[in-house]
Amino acid sequence: MAPEAVGSKPTAHPKFSKGKSIAGFPFFYSLVTMIMPDNSTNSSLTDLRDLTLQELTDFIAELGEPRFRARQIFSWLYRPGISSFSEMTNLALAFRTRLEDIARISSLQVDKREEANDGTVKYAFRLADNTLIESVLIPDNGRHTLCVSSQVGCAMGCAFCLTGTMGLRRNLTAAEIVNQVIHTRNELEAKANGKGRINNLVFMGMGEPLANYDNLRRALDILIDDHGLDFSQRRITVSTCGLVPGIEQLGAETKVNLAISLHAANNETRSRLLPINQTYDIAALLEACRAYPLPKRRRIMIEYVLLAGINDSPGDARQLVRILHKLRCKINLLPCNETDDLPFRRPEKAVVEKFQHILQEAGYTAIIRESRGAEISAACGQLANKNNKSINA
Ligand code: SAH
Ligand code: SF4
Repeated sequence: MAPEAVGSKPTAHPKFSKGKSIAGFPFFYSLVTMIMPDNSTNSSLTDLRDLTLQELTDFIAELGEPRFRARQIFSWLYRPGISSFSEMTNLALAFRTRLEDIARISSLQVDKREEANDGTVKYAFRLADNTLIESVLIPDNGRHTLCVSSQVGCAMGCAFCLTGTMGLRRNLTAAEIVNQVIHTRNELEAKANGKGRINNLVFMGMGEPLANYDNLRRALDILIDDHGLDFSQRRITVSTCGLVPGIEQLGAETKVNLAISLHAANNETRSRLLPINQTYDIAALLEACRAYPLPKRRRIMIEYVLLAGINDSPGDARQLVRILHKLRCKINLLPCNETDDLPFRRPEKAVVEKFQHILQEAGYTAIIRESRGAEISAACGQLANKNNKSINA
């Protein structure tokens, strides 16, 4: 089954849903920091940032231009500060003018930028159709991880996740995914005099990346192309709630890291928390993980959100040990990020540590991850934008 075919509607969980709408997310109109070239939003023009190098090569060939021009243009598109064809100085003026008539270079408009005390920055980007997405830049000892969104909202309806309560508005284009990276990279480089860089990319923002597989795949092509953003695949992690066909396809077509939002050690609990488990259960999911072609010394990241009284008992930890048997993985324990709108609470510290201890005793690497930027609602599962509701409802 194609990943897109899975769950097109949000499935509010009857047991956990409080039936309340999202509230309490402050929203300010401010900081429109991008200066856009005139044609950057004209959707009748081809957005060149939406094309892989191969697609751009075909586009250029159709114009009757030599194919090597595509590589020249492609490298310009991802250089810091480039926003118009007029800056592409090794192209003939007549060709640049022609490009301006048929193509555009999109960029993202910052709607709001918030910085937490720990240096985490949350960006809300306003898209051409007025919807909003969020990206989170997380500094750590001079390194930076960017958490990117893959969809506006999410159809998967996980009971504990605020993004899930929004439902799916739409998939992001490859350009909208890549532009999150370009915008933050440019800002970081400008701030650090060309020295700041994004070291890791994680698809853990809004949305289920494998439910938008084609655009994810094309965005990855642009991100890893050495004429594009030049990211090494081992610095990219795609996180999924468990779309098995998408996992298989990703493993066959790329070498990026895989993170699995497991969150429960038995089907009963997992199906209550993640509706996708009713389509692909734990056995099917872990089989896909075991078959995932992992390069040497790499492991799958298992994410496990700890929800008080639901999946945090020593029995759950022991069951987790059993089901992960012989899977090359490391486990991230995420104490639940609480929100007033969802009825889940984080366990006591001692409960979290006991859970971790059981996994460690069994030989697993298990790390307790405290989300960063919680006070600006930048933490895992907190990305949702009230304004998307009012615009699209
Ligand atoms: N859709 C993908 C990627 C985005 S979610 C996925 O689910 O994997 C990023 C991570 O945040 C996931 O592991 C998700 O389960 C976790 N998350 C969601 N809600 C959370 C919450 N309330 N507290 C802690 N982590 C949460
Ligand atoms: Fe979607 Fe991931 Fe949130 Fe589930 S946890 S609703 S898949 S964003």
